[in-house]
Amino acid sequence: MLVVTTGLLKEVVKLAAKIIDGKAIANKIRISLKEDIERLSRERGFVPGLAVILVGKDPASQIYVRNKEKACKEIGIESRVIYMDENVSQDVLLQEIDKLNNDKDIHGILVQLPLPNHIDPEAVISAIDPKKDVDGFHPLTTGKLFVGQKGFEPCTPKGIITLIKETGQDIAGKHAVVIGRSNIVGKPVSIMLLRENATVTICHSKTKNLKEIAKNADILVVAMGRPESIDDEYIKDGAIVIDVGTTRVDGKLKGDVVFDKAVHKAGWITPVPGGVGPMTITMLLENTVQAAYGNE
Ligand code: NAP
Repeated sequence: MLVVTTGLLKEVVKLAAKIIDGKAIANKIRISLKEDIERLSRERGFVPGLAVILVGKDPASQIYVRNKEKACKEIGIESRVIYMDENVSQDVLLQEIDKLNNDKDIHGILVQLPLPNHIDPEAVISAIDPKKDVDGFHPLTTGKLFVGQKGFEPCTPKGIITLIKETGQDIAGKHAVVIGRSNIVGKPVSIMLLRENATVTICHSKTKNLKEIAKNADILVVAMGRPESIDDEYIKDGAIVIDVGTTRVDGKLKGDVVFDKAVHKAGWITPVPGGVGPMTITMLLENTVQAAYGNE
């Protein structure tokens, strides 16, 4: 909050946070990836190939897969979508993965989750060649991330770190609080913040005094899936706030943070939509280009 004194008048002006525009940042990265692909094609005579396997007809998954296909096309990645019946056996699915593992035109393989109940997602993800694991969910990829070895980074956490860096603020030495400990967001982003030399606190549904802990965060990453549950009372003045949450409420996409309140307390904040969301697909594209260059 800034107090401005003009003559005898004392006005209280609330400064709004800077918006971290995920859409603009994602577009900038996609332009640079398109150039990388053009160079790859010119110099080595091929373009990156991404295979996406979709089992069943879940409407949300169909939209995600279509969006990935469109994003690939826009920058010159060859995308191949393999549709499988929802009753497909796990063996047939594993055979398809094996074929893709051995297909030299395919550099990245992604199996759209969730899978039907009769299929074990861990067995399926583990069957992907780690060199083609552009989603970053293979146990070997996760292990490499944990011990600090080079490898693919999972897309949403990688996007979050990129957004934080875009603020121009140093992560090293900052107190980062992550609310959520899922395998796809909370845990990996905590490890990645630690790797950037932040002091990291991980919170979850059993955490006591969440508000007090969150209020101490220089960087607050919220990945709870509980729409609009973190307001300005959880936020330190000037903090970087990354809202990962996306929940559809009455047809509208809501984040976990009460944006209209948080924007007057935070220093930087991501909107929903238009924050983390556009970065997730962009990081998938980046990982696929990385795989095609042979740098998993
Ligand atoms: P998840 O697997 O359901 O995990 C939610 C986490 O939040 C859990 O660790 C849970 O704690 C914690 N939590 C729930 N209620 C809490 C509370 N009241 N206080 C403190 N912690 C609480 O969800 P996820 O897959 O990580 O996703 C989180 C959100 O991010 C969802 O809205 C999802 O749609 C969104 N998301 C967005 C993107 C994107 O690209 N924009 C990508 C992935 C996810 P426990 O472990 O104790 O249960």
